Amino acid sequence: MANQQPPVPPTPPQRVVQQPPPGRPRRTILIVSVVAVVAVALVAVGAILVVRSRSASSTPSATDSSIPPAGPTTSVGSPFPSYNGNGADDNVFYNISVDHDATKSACPKLGVYRPGGSDEAIKAGITATLACLRALNTPLLAEYEIELPEPKLVFYSDSVNTGCGDTATAANIGEYCSKDQTIYFSLAAFRAGGKVSKNPLSIYVFAAHEFGHYLQYMTNISRGVAEDATAESRRVELQATCTAGVFVNASWTQSGATAAMITQTHQMFDVLYGDNAPGQGDYGTPETTTTWFDAGYADGGTSSYADCNTFAAPLGEVR
Ligand SMILES: [Zn+2]
Repeated sequence: MANQQPPVPPTPPQRVVQQPPPGRPRRTILIVSVVAVVAVALVAVGAILVVRSRSASSTPSATDSSIPPAGPTTSVGSPFPSYNGNGADDNVFYNISVDHDATKSACPKLGVYRPGGSDEAIKAGITATLACLRALNTPLLAEYEIELPEPKLVFYSDSVNTGCGDTATAANIGEYCSKDQTIYFSLAAFRAGGKVSKNPLSIYVFAAHEFGHYLQYMTNISRGVAEDATAESRRVELQATCTAGVFVNASWTQSGATAAMITQTHQMFDVLYGDNAPGQGDYGTPETTTTWFDAGYADGGTSSYADCNTFAAPLGEVR
């Protein structure tokens, strides 16, 4: 969320999409090569399979964007680029499942935090939640050779200039800027009387949402998505909220979550997104936001990031 601020339309998150996926220019070369090889001999089929297999396992290190992602395979006709496990709708990220209460083994120190306390308490809660998110996801993504270096964290009271060239204000809640690898949080939003202060789960939901943007960037999901299309922005935002649902499920016991708090989370979405015109803004409606959050939450069962693939969803599901 990078910025949740009803009724004022929220500022879109700074998802820096500076360079096209490095693998893209290779598409033509690869296709030509494949066609040529297939035309030459059946033996080539085996070669292609080997190439694809190697590509799938050669996920670029998240810390080095100069390494091209695996070459594209069958993206022709798809609205989003598909890079054999590194694209927006076809990504190894979607292979990952997260168990209910998974944080108990991944980050045993996660505590129960509530908004509305002192600034120090808010900082402690968000900091601990982000640390837990990273501890939970690091081994899961390491399976695909994707690293999760610790993002920087900045809290501010009034406003702050981000590395993405914008100014985050007290009216915002949080923002992830990929350019400076920093997550920004507005303390005002979490203070007593702040826009999210009444929701006991809000610290977890918003920390996980911003961390979701970080995951999108590190897995290459958001790098190939144009920023100027609102539908694509909604896919990014709804997916981040879905990953927040995954975390709420994963941290269920440690966060002290209850079914009533899930209901309160839905009600919070009603407030935050109630003014959004369906299919027109950078964020979803209360209905689509709730649906995607619940998809990640998975009713307390085993969550899967595959259920957060908003990029493969029909447009009607990301309104
Ligand atoms: Zn966001």
